Amino acid sequence: MTETTESQDDPASPDYAQIFADLTATFESGKTRDLAWRRKQLQAVESMMSEREQEIFDALHSDLGKSAMESFTTETGYVSSDAAYNRKKLNRWTRKQRVRTPIIGQPGKSWVQAEPLGIVLVIGAWNYPLQLTLAGMSAAIAAGNCVVLKPSELAPATSALIARLVPEYLDPDCIKVIEGDVPETTALLKQPFDHILYTGGGKVARIIMAAAAKHLTPVTLELGGKSPCVVLPDANLEATARRIVWGKYTNAGQTCIAPDYVLADADTEALLVPLLEKNIREMFGDNPQQSDSYGRIVNDRHFARVSGLIESGHVAIGGQTDAADKYIAPTVLTDIENDSAIMREEIFGPVLPIIRAENLEEAIAAIRGSDKPLAAYIFTNNSRDERKFLEQVSSGSACVNDVMMFMAVHELPFGGVGPSGMGAYSGRAGFETFSHMKSVIKRGWWPDLAVRYAPFTEKKFKFLRKVR
Ligand code: NAD
Repeated sequence: MTETTESQDDPASPDYAQIFADLTATFESGKTRDLAWRRKQLQAVESMMSEREQEIFDALHSDLGKSAMESFTTETGYVSSDAAYNRKKLNRWTRKQRVRTPIIGQPGKSWVQAEPLGIVLVIGAWNYPLQLTLAGMSAAIAAGNCVVLKPSELAPATSALIARLVPEYLDPDCIKVIEGDVPETTALLKQPFDHILYTGGGKVARIIMAAAAKHLTPVTLELGGKSPCVVLPDANLEATARRIVWGKYTNAGQTCIAPDYVLADADTEALLVPLLEKNIREMFGDNPQQSDSYGRIVNDRHFARVSGLIESGHVAIGGQTDAADKYIAPTVLTDIENDSAIMREEIFGPVLPIIRAENLEEAIAAIRGSDKPLAAYIFTNNSRDERKFLEQVSSGSACVNDVMMFMAVHELPFGGVGPSGMGAYSGRAGFETFSHMKSVIKRGWWPDLAVRYAPFTEKKFKFLRKVR
């Protein structure tokens, strides 16, 4: 079922309380607990991705100028393989996990069994507008929940397409799409959801968490931050530059885990800049504005914000902008002024500042001086430096000698730490996020050890101390 985008104050607007009550009745019927139902929905997600691929590509191109291949690797292909992974692992994840029962619980058996939470709200962001709604939805379905999806209004073509396709492919009694902006989300948040998955910025995350607190609804917050990328002189700089260019300029830099800035010493910077330039040219040609492989900034507000950041340093590569086309060239900045705007906020665009750090210790100190990032990257051949970095830099995820590639591993949980987020999903972590992992002990009737019952004698006390 697709709801309108009207506010709840409008008489024509959807009645969120009624939608919630209907979903609750469906959930209570047990429909979503059935493993065959879950498998069928996940299979339908896969079919939706392959059968409607072109429509999805068109919507993503209209919202963000994404190329077909990028849309496949980061959106449809990702959503499809993630759903397939959940489907294949369902039997294993839903099996009781036996644990050892101590003497005091004998005779007895103990286990953990997953149970669905109920109704899950998924609020997506605009930068990967398909993936960030449907991957969360697949995990919630795998765990046996009903789902309300709220795609981002800042990617309107994809939001409208999700609202059209989801009811066509998935069970409309259990999965609903509500399109809309702040008023719709505010109204939705009044309902007592059993879990909320929110992806976006930290400011709105506080609003979401405050609304959730009213119902003691648990939240998973997938946020952002400035993900650092340390390049040490012993790294393979050719491969380093290629991988940084790929990670930074995918989706025109509008990726929560894109390398936000590079930390390198003066000699490494001097070697790295021409290699970055060479790779930008190889990937996007002499004029990236004409490249089918290069995206656009989502809207005028973000265009103005990101182009303003170019003034924070010396333009070593790129720097061209075209407001009418929302185009910002792949840009690299050096000689960044202290306390400049670009180092105070997440860039979230195709501008890469290189910051001087004369050694690993200096780089680590700089990173630790700011919020814990969503991702942290190091390029080095030295395993001692690698270990030191992984131990001393706290981040949601990390890569050694690459960027963003943890996303390719379904079984690695994805989430932030501190201001970059709380909780995680992907693979088993997603299943557990949307499940209650219930602890169960089943006792036999006999023997029924008298030791725990009153009267509490010295003998019983001694025995208890021993078997503890
Ligand atoms: P956005 O503007 O699309 O907002 C996210 C969602 O919040 C939308 O659905 C929107 O409707 C809703 N929203 C906005 N204002 C609201 C309000 N006042 N009350 C209730 N709901 C409201 O996304 P954004 O914030 O521009 O996203 C960019 C940020 O998201 C960046 O910081 C980025 O790093 C982060 N991000 C994180 C991840 C991740 O997986 N960790 C992924 C993508 C983006």
